[in-house]
Amino acid sequence: MKKIDIDIQCQACDGTGVYVGMAERHGAAVVCYQCKGTGKYNYVLEYENFKKMNIRKNIKRVYKSSYGFCIAPTKIPTASGGVIDLETEGISYEEFKIGKLPEHTRQLACPMLADQGACHNIKGFINRCNKLHGESLLGISLTACKNQPHKSDCWKRFEAGKE
Ligand SMILES: [Zn+2]
Repeated sequence: MKKIDIDIQCQACDGTGVYVGMAERHGAAVVCYQCKGTGKYNYVLEYENFKKMNIRKNIKRVYKSSYGFCIAPTKIPTASGGVIDLETEGISYEEFKIGKLPEHTRQLACPMLADQGACHNIKGFINRCNKLHGESLLGISLTACKNQPHKSDCWKRFEAGKE
């Protein structure tokens, strides 16, 4: 194990030891909470130089994300009577080890759960989501969207780049 142990200028107060925020006015300052007024921050990092990727035991499949669900490499029954087959989604650990990366798990996540930023970039996409759900999805869990059982259709419009 190697170690970096250096004193750096406190980033919260630019090394001044005093902090001036919204509440401190007309020349008032408070003692910086980060460096306790010293202006100095002791940065310690213990590390190993990278040699090669380590192998982790007992891994069968690798997925891009769990999207907030509890996942296992099995067939998972859904509330609507279907099955999400996580034995075929993702990639095997063997594939991962040779450098492959998994795609989104489309049986599990709709485009909004998978990549909200990309959905925002498609004009009208989210408006259509709201229509399919029957009301605005703002502030509610996307997993509660009434169109979730038909998310393969949402993946089609996502791929087409259309609402
Ligand atoms: Zn400070």
